[in-house]
Amino acid sequence: MSFEELKEEVWLANKELAKSGLVVLTWGNVSGVDREAGVMAIKPSGVDYDELRPEDVVVLSIDEGEIIEGSLRPSSDTPSHLVLYQEFRSIGGVVHTHSTYATSWAQAGREIPCFGTTHADYFYGSVPLTRQLTPEEIKSEYERNTGKVIVEHFSKSGLATDEVPGVLVPNHGVFSWGDDTMAALEASIVLEEVAKMGLYTILLNPQVGSIPQALLDKHFFRKHGSGAYYGQER
Ligand SMILES: [Zn+2]
Repeated sequence: MSFEELKEEVWLANKELAKSGLVVLTWGNVSGVDREAGVMAIKPSGVDYDELRPEDVVVLSIDEGEIIEGSLRPSSDTPSHLVLYQEFRSIGGVVHTHSTYATSWAQAGREIPCFGTTHADYFYGSVPLTRQLTPEEIKSEYERNTGKVIVEHFSKSGLATDEVPGVLVPNHGVFSWGDDTMAALEASIVLEEVAKMGLYTILLNPQVGSIPQALLDKHFFRKHGSGAYYGQER
């Protein structure tokens, strides 16, 4: 079986990530999956986005994490992506960045409350923040444990990945996801934008409350779920 199409998709999404302005140097990566084949494809470690070619993209098995195609070492964040695909069975793409505004919230140890409809169109509520990793979790299998605290947070808080397509990891950065690589990329762009708006919102009014529930419901559910009516039918 050939993974050319998947590698091309992941290559393109990584190029788009570089163009989006969300990453500095090589601090970011996009992965995508072929669920039928049980594989994920990800950017190789430390390769400049400008020099990245489709054939450089590394293909690994989702269950075992073993390399199936590719001669370069996969991104060092690969174990985090693998855990997300193993546990969040409906997602098809993952993006990781240290984008400035969202990471500022993560470093401040704050989730991003939903202050407006831009946010509500994509996230049904706050952009959550996971717990800190313990010293043991940092020392051993750090990247895998980063994925695991995200899964733990969603499970404990009863969050759904299709209602909350991204998360902040304290003192680190952002992971976002979607049905495919482009949806995951769009979520990371939206997340950065709402992080920026949210910062200015609380600067202008530190006492501001979250969006009214009725407005959150209206905006989220007109785009998502069975009653959605925004945009064109697909
Ligand atoms: Zn990172």
